[in-house]
Amino acid sequence: MQGEPVERYPEVPPETLRGEVRRITVIGEDVLHRRCRDVAEEEFGTPGLSRLIDDMFATMWVAEGVGLAANQIGVDLRAFVWDCFDEDGVRHVGHILNPVLDDLPAAARRLVDTAEGCLSVPGPRTDLARPDAAVVRGRDLVGRPLVVEGSGYFARCLQHESDHLAGGLYVDRLAAGERRAVLRDMEERKADVFARREVRTGELAALPRPA
Ligand code: ZN
Repeated sequence: MQGEPVERYPEVPPETLRGEVRRITVIGEDVLHRRCRDVAEEEFGTPGLSRLIDDMFATMWVAEGVGLAANQIGVDLRAFVWDCFDEDGVRHVGHILNPVLDDLPAAARRLVDTAEGCLSVPGPRTDLARPDAAVVRGRDLVGRPLVVEGSGYFARCLQHESDHLAGGLYVDRLAAGERRAVLRDMEERKADVFARREVRTGELAALPRPA
């Protein structure tokens, strides 16, 4: 169950093994640039929602991401997943629906400049200042309330994915010149990134499934 520490978790999560790899949307596609809709009450606990989370895990694994939002596989729904380490080297694996990021008081906010990238801006990474702690509140697959706290890179991940669900990308937080440079870099590198995802899609398909 989410939120409970466990001794170990499979390197390739069961969600990933169950899921189907979907195409990752790229900057410029409409679904990435508008706010996603809330998961409706009657959708919690449905097989469709479980499948969505599994597909997001499979797609994130293939793309070697630490987080993925639903609109990154073209689904207009407020949901994201993660498989990410925090500043203590603790691995966090999970999903959240209808997340809301806590507003940190300015006094509690410490900005850190760290390289950030996005699966929907394939290739480049660039330094971006963000608070080094984050808390999101939402629901899990079956509708139970969920609070997720992150530090280090995991805090960055929670903020980055929350931005996605509001229709934002990390490049929207960059100065115009920096943003242009990142997008030029993406044009040069994206073919290599797509080729690598193809290879990993094959690798995932070849992994043994639990009986
Ligand atoms: Zn992203």
